[in-house]
Amino acid sequence: MIESVTVELDPRIPARIRERIDFDSQRGCLIGTGWLTDDGYAICSWEGKKKVRVIRLLWKLLTGKWPRSDREMLHSCDNRACVHVGVHVKPGTRKRNAIERQERGRTRGFRTYKKEAA
Ligand SMILES: [Zn+2]
Repeated sequence: MIESVTVELDPRIPARIRERIDFDSQRGCLIGTGWLTDDGYAICSWEGKKKVRVIRLLWKLLTGKWPRSDREMLHSCDNRACVHVGVHVKPGTRKRNAIERQERGRTRGFRTYKKEAA
C-alpha cells in the first residue's frame, strides 16, 4: 500500500500523463484534465487501449498492479476528476463506496431520510 504520492513529480508516471494533471491547492486534489468521460472521469490512451481511466492507470503505475476489475476507485474528496491516488483515491468495493459516501454526507450536514413504517 502506498501512503502518499506526489503524482506530478513521480518519475514512474510518463510526462504525457503528468502534463495533464493539475493541482487544486484549495482542496489538495490532483485533477485529471484533457479527455474526460461524460460522467467526469479523466481518461487517456495506454498500450493500445484508447479509453483507460487515468485514475486506474496511476494506481497501476504506482503500485505495480491494476485495481481489480470489480473494484471502484473511491474518492475521499468526492471529486470525480481527482486522481490523487493513495491520498484521496483508493480501490474499494461498490458497497464500501456507498457507505463512505453516506458517512461523508452526514458529516457535511446532509440529511439521510428513512422511510417510516406506516
Ligand atoms: Zn481529491
